[in-house]
Amino acid sequence: MKTIQAGTYNVHFQQKAYKFLSNLVEDNNYSSVFILLDENTLEHCYPKFISNFATEKRIEVIEIESGEINKNIDTCIGVWNAITELGGDRKSLLITLGGGVITDLGGFVASCFKRGIDFVNIPTTLLSMVDASVGGKTGVDLGVLKNQIGLFANPKMVIVDSDYLTTVTEREIKSGTAEIIKYGLTYDTDLFNEIKNNKKLEISNLIQRSIEIKNEVVLQDPREQNLRKILNFGHTLGHAIESFYLESEDKENLTHGEAIAIGMVCESFMSYKLLGFPAEKVNEIKEVILSIYKRTHLLKEDFSDIMELLKHDKKNINGQVNFVLLNDYEDYKIDCKVPEKLILESMEFYNE
Ligand code: NAD
Repeated sequence: MKTIQAGTYNVHFQQKAYKFLSNLVEDNNYSSVFILLDENTLEHCYPKFISNFATEKRIEVIEIESGEINKNIDTCIGVWNAITELGGDRKSLLITLGGGVITDLGGFVASCFKRGIDFVNIPTTLLSMVDASVGGKTGVDLGVLKNQIGLFANPKMVIVDSDYLTTVTEREIKSGTAEIIKYGLTYDTDLFNEIKNNKKLEISNLIQRSIEIKNEVVLQDPREQNLRKILNFGHTLGHAIESFYLESEDKENLTHGEAIAIGMVCESFMSYKLLGFPAEKVNEIKEVILSIYKRTHLLKEDFSDIMELLKHDKKNINGQVNFVLLNDYEDYKIDCKVPEKLILESMEFYNE
């Protein structure tokens, strides 16, 4: 797999990547190296990481509790306190070793600590490899509201080693697949067809292609003024649904990808109604998604809570919800206003 140049930093792959990391640490003469991880990546990923990372520097491990519910400012305060107590300074490096929760939160923690220290992302889930660890978006949730607090900050390097995926659950692999479907529908239909045809998927090719797409998009529009908004396809309603399940104590949480997959079905339906996106393609998307993810029945009595959460989407301006919809595969329209009635109808369409 070939190194990808992502503007100010590189994405390195597999075993050879660790040598680049050792060189980075050596060349920058960091005072200390902090590794941020959770209990799962401590158990499953840290042993491999540490046996590959050659350095003379002092290494300190900071563990947080796994789960989206912990991607919040309180956890950040805990990490900032730990770095401070362990003698971190402006010349420290933070390495994030984990899924999107760790890379999002770790990037944010590093970017704010003493006005910013360097960080390196080492994603360990499919979702964080193909999406969260690249592109420079860092941040945390505010209560259950997704990614409300954060900033754009690029890592110094990203290391993608698909060997970490051997311990990731099937459910989490499927979660990452949702972001690959998103790239497929908005940018590269071949990628969607690969998943649709359920060929024996060559995971390293999917990862490489996904990162290439994200990188192409982000390099053209790093601050999400226009093109980058395509990466929010399925996420506007999807985030509201994810938040709703996070705050519902009697319901099992959805993974990020499961929520986004529902969002893509609903937003394809909105695209059909508003922009003439072909009906057969809406059905195709729904079929592919329901063949991968078990159906979540969205209860009618929950629709109003989901609509309420939608009002907090980051893309909203003046209280207006902005969707990115599809005219066709690989053909999008940003900043679409969708009547409330149609949003409700789209959730019913998903349920049917
Ligand atoms: P996650 O970080 O919660 O990881 C899922 C689970 O897998 C966790 O329990 C974790 O401990 C465990 N895990 C991680 N690596 C493992 C391994 N190798 N073996 C065994 N278990 C492992 O979830 P995620 O799906 O990776 O990330 C979701 C987050 O990413 C969301 O918060 C979402 O908002 C964010 N995200 C960010 C961006 C961005 O551009 N910054 C893009 C997409 C998603």
